[in-house]
Amino acid sequence: MTNLAENLVATAAAHPDRTAIRLDDVELSYADLHAASARVAGMLAAQGIAPGDRVGIVLPNLPAFPILFHGALLAGATVVPMNPLLKQREVEYYLRDSGMSLVFGWDSGGDAVTAAAGTVGIPAVLVGPLGPDTGDAAPAPDAVTRDDSDTAVILYTSGTTGQPKGAELTHANLRTNTAATVSSVLTLGTDDVIMGCLPLFHVFGLTCGLNAAVSVGATLTLIPRFDPAKALAVIARDEVTVFEGVPTMYAAMLHHPDADTADMTTLRTCASGGSAMPVEIMRAFEEKFGCMVLEGYGLSETSPVASFNQPHRERKPGSIGFEIPGCEMRVVDDNGADVGTDTPGEIAIRGDNVMKGYWGRPDATAEAVPDGWFRTGDVATRDADGYYFIVDRKKDLIIRGGYNVYPREVEEALYEHPAVAEAAVVGIPHPEWGEEIGAAVALRAGEKADPEELRDFVKERVAAYKYPRQVWLVEELPKGPTGKILRREVNPPE
Ligand code: AMP
Repeated sequence: MTNLAENLVATAAAHPDRTAIRLDDVELSYADLHAASARVAGMLAAQGIAPGDRVGIVLPNLPAFPILFHGALLAGATVVPMNPLLKQREVEYYLRDSGMSLVFGWDSGGDAVTAAAGTVGIPAVLVGPLGPDTGDAAPAPDAVTRDDSDTAVILYTSGTTGQPKGAELTHANLRTNTAATVSSVLTLGTDDVIMGCLPLFHVFGLTCGLNAAVSVGATLTLIPRFDPAKALAVIARDEVTVFEGVPTMYAAMLHHPDADTADMTTLRTCASGGSAMPVEIMRAFEEKFGCMVLEGYGLSETSPVASFNQPHRERKPGSIGFEIPGCEMRVVDDNGADVGTDTPGEIAIRGDNVMKGYWGRPDATAEAVPDGWFRTGDVATRDADGYYFIVDRKKDLIIRGGYNVYPREVEEALYEHPAVAEAAVVGIPHPEWGEEIGAAVALRAGEKADPEELRDFVKERVAAYKYPRQVWLVEELPKGPTGKILRREVNPPE
């Protein structure tokens, strides 16, 4: 099996009537999903899309996404998923950078996609929630043969630093990472129902949600955009067994008024990734909903899953677990040499899941993968049992008067305060210390705490050079498309 879309062909043959995708009243069986995707593949072939051509998808989590995704893959195309919140200028950048041949947009999604495609000179096909009108093109149910090393998906990475680059993930990268995650982390079977609230255009939702479900014939129940009340209601309604989200989603559900009454009894496994899961939130979530939360780690460049707390071994809260099958991890210094146990260094990754490279950027690829090991930019320690603990991102490190302060540790202390819903700790330029520690805090609804109280609370818990000298309250913290807090966009009040 080479083409990733063969997962759908095989599952549709084995479990034709099983629900593949649900969105409220709309349900697509695996046979429906395959048939609709085959029509899209036929339409793309009729439009002259050849294997390897780039096809864009700019959609929220609607059934059209999996239909177009598999349709494009069946046709042998490379898929470039994009966030539907992007502005015209941003869409244009991705269209040009990837040399795209055709882009799908949402007919209720504004005109950024049409306008960008018009400027670049490629067709834009706008679709409804159930996908395009495929006209009279003959369906193409068989997958065009692809090599393991052909690129299946180009994912533009978060773009929290520098210009977004397209990580090229091959058919083998995505297939093996999906299989390893399904067997070692999610222990997924055909009877499972996965909550699809992570965006499918992001690698976490794509691999652990869509590709995982399709590989075994599980159901993926979608919500177009995350909303805690909706997520709680859908878990109860659809008897969801597996929840996947970023920590801010866990916090939002836990603190929502409906959490006390929501029926979450079917939930067994929850996977958290994308950013550090505060241990307090994890514990409270498990206690309230009676499920197990497994934290893991990965990046767009690693398809994404690299490490996880895996159910067959002891779980260590606060850790990102250990390598999943097919992936190797090391903690290295700036020269690429291993650092010792419990010593911070940069995570380097090698394995079936590591991208082919950055699309059209051999220099950036060589810099990121200098010696066969992909440098993540994340700082971690590895304990004697082989579990990794993220200390922070290299770039998020705050240096105050020569002392290293990792924001995450200070944030963990803030999360212990009962009134705190979310916190982001950042460096503020300072004439004497170089940087001073600042913290933006959003309080839980109905709770009160003043900045001085929060500062003193942290002061009692961390070394003197680490506590935030300046704390300010905000309504909400800036977030990326998955809900990940964007520290780099947090600024102190004037
Ligand atoms: P992205 O490419 O958008 O998926 O972002 C990848 C980045 O998310 C990584 O480089 C890490 O900085 C961060 N990340 C992912 N999982 C975790 C985790 N469990 N704890 C802390 N940071 C994480």
